[in-house]
Amino acid sequence: MDFELSENQRLLRDMTRDFAAREIAPLAHAMDATGEVPDALLAKMREAGFFGLAYPERYGGLGLDTVTYGLVVEELARQSAGICIMVTVHNSVGYYPVAGFGSAELQARYLPRMAAGELAAFCISEPNAGSDAAALASTARREGDDYILDGSKVWVTNGSRARFFVILARTPGTAGHRGIHAFLVERDTPGLAVAKKEDKLGLRASDTVVIALDGVRVPATHRLGEEGGGFRIAMTALDGGRIGVAFQAIGIGRACLEEALKYARQRETFGRTLAEQPVIQHKIADMTTELEAARLLALRAAWLKDEGRPHTREAAMAKLFATEAAGRAADEALQIHGGYGYVKEYPVERYYRDARVTRIYEGTSEIQRLVIARQTLAGRVG
Ligand SMILES: Cc1cc2nc3c(=O)[nH]c(=O)nc-3n(C[C@H](O)[C@H](O)[C@H](O)COP(=O)(O)OP(=O)(O)OC[C@H]3O[C@@H](n4cnc5c(N)ncnc54)[C@H](O)[C@@H]3O)c2cc1C
Repeated sequence: MDFELSENQRLLRDMTRDFAAREIAPLAHAMDATGEVPDALLAKMREAGFFGLAYPERYGGLGLDTVTYGLVVEELARQSAGICIMVTVHNSVGYYPVAGFGSAELQARYLPRMAAGELAAFCISEPNAGSDAAALASTARREGDDYILDGSKVWVTNGSRARFFVILARTPGTAGHRGIHAFLVERDTPGLAVAKKEDKLGLRASDTVVIALDGVRVPATHRLGEEGGGFRIAMTALDGGRIGVAFQAIGIGRACLEEALKYARQRETFGRTLAEQPVIQHKIADMTTELEAARLLALRAAWLKDEGRPHTREAAMAKLFATEAAGRAADEALQIHGGYGYVKEYPVERYYRDARVTRIYEGTSEIQRLVIARQTLAGRVG
């Protein structure tokens, strides 16, 4: 067993750390306050290759393995969880269905544009289908060489800016996971429109919208994978996506720990710094240990994925533990700041709000527990 990172992995992690500290950190507070991401930052991120992290080199991406990708994601989330989710959705659930299941022609045509930074979004959730994604009701009606899509997709990350949408919809009259197809749809296809922008508690630098589908005509050549294979594609993409969310949570948790340390070293009560006081040290010890455990779970899930081995259970465990650890770290970091943790002058207030959603999207904590329990009950214990 080897716990060492390769030279390339360290290099990419450190380069991202520098980039995020230099380019993202100074804007993070304002992006949270306004919900706006400056075009100049996006241009720099494009230039640095963040939108091509997972995309193959032959299409202009960096072709990173999942472990290296995870290290990069942690560094982005350390400075801005909102910017991080923009990058991870584009590089996981927006990417994988096309790269893993699109025809060679579709890949050659679209992956270079996506790798260059034309954003992708992923649309499975609907008003009445979140955890129970197979309950989705949007329809894809075959008409000659096309499909006609109708319905409503909610919680679409990147939805305002995306040029490409991976959309899940079903043949009318079907139910359950059968009859669901996945499509790659271009933004300016008539009938596809942003219907609403959400006003969120946290992750405010990330845009989250409702997408209306009204008679959207999509060529059958834009179907990803087999007819009726859409649900499996989405679930496989989410296995990878959950590893990214685990690393995102670790990045937020590390931000909490680092800010708590900074504050505890300078704040004095009863003639001593907080850092010198055992109760605060216990909090710091618990945060450190939980984040380290979360990182090991996430690295193992990423490694299994890179080895081409099953990782559904490990991705679920990493996401569950990392996101809950990040929630506890955010809570303790705020507590260590006392009243100052509750105001916007200190960044822990933002981390606290940002951490919360990681327990909800790409499968809630309850759903991760269902996934894990199902596998354990089926005999996968070690
Ligand atoms: C900021 C944000 C960004 C998102 N981005 C995207 C995106 O890009 N694309 C996309 O498609 N979706 C996205 N989502 C949607 C997200 O994946 C869903 O919100 C999530 O899967 C939960 O679905 P729901 O909100 O409908 O809650 P519900 O499914 O209604 O669940 C409500 C509660 O009940 C619990 N619950 C439900 N069923 C069970 C059960 N069987 N056992 C135990 N507990 C259960 C849940 O865990 C939850 O606590 C995003 C959501 C948010 C908030």
